[in-house]
Amino acid sequence: MQREIACDFRETTQVWIRNFLAPSSCAFCGMLPVVKENICDACFDDLPWNEAPLSLTPGVLDCSVAMLQYAFPVDVAIKALKFDRKLFYAPAFVEILREGRSFLPEDIDAALAVPLHWRRKTLRGFNQASELAKPLAKSVGVPVIRSVRRCKATPFQSGLAAVERAENLRQAFIAPTPIQRKHVLIIDDVITTGTTVQAVAKTLLSAGVAKVSVLAIARAGH
Ligand SMILES: [Zn+2]
Repeated sequence: MQREIACDFRETTQVWIRNFLAPSSCAFCGMLPVVKENICDACFDDLPWNEAPLSLTPGVLDCSVAMLQYAFPVDVAIKALKFDRKLFYAPAFVEILREGRSFLPEDIDAALAVPLHWRRKTLRGFNQASELAKPLAKSVGVPVIRSVRRCKATPFQSGLAAVERAENLRQAFIAPTPIQRKHVLIIDDVITTGTTVQAVAKTLLSAGVAKVSVLAIARAGH
């Protein structure tokens, strides 16, 4: 307990020092944040938090954690990050994902960002899931693995029916080598129908991973 308090105090002090040296404002309202990175306490509390972030999903996923509802201002912010390069939202989303740590199984030993096809990554200049996965994995204390590739440039999934999405994603992901991990945590921005995450999970399981879970910023359609 004392160690936790000391650790919290150290993290808080580090953020204060960093904000003093290079003040960063809240990504949502533009105010100076107090403790958290790029999000003020008022905006953090006002977000559409899911009452039950954890859903135990039968099938390929061990558990699925989504912290927020895909509603305003989360939807706008996620789109701004992905399509408008508003990278200042990423640290705020990491703060939100960190709230999900308590729902995660303890045997997680690696994190994986949902991979983008290289062409889309080149066009976008970054993979938003990687921007979230790196700092989050660090705070969970596990490495980020890059063992899964997206080998097929699938069309945008939004607006497609579930059957079309699944068909689009068939064999979209590959793991070129065996992956010796017990429980991999997939990091994603939004879970819509879950077909993307399930396709990644199937790839991980067939490469030798024992269990797969997912942690996302938001879940849509619930
Ligand atoms: Zn704010």
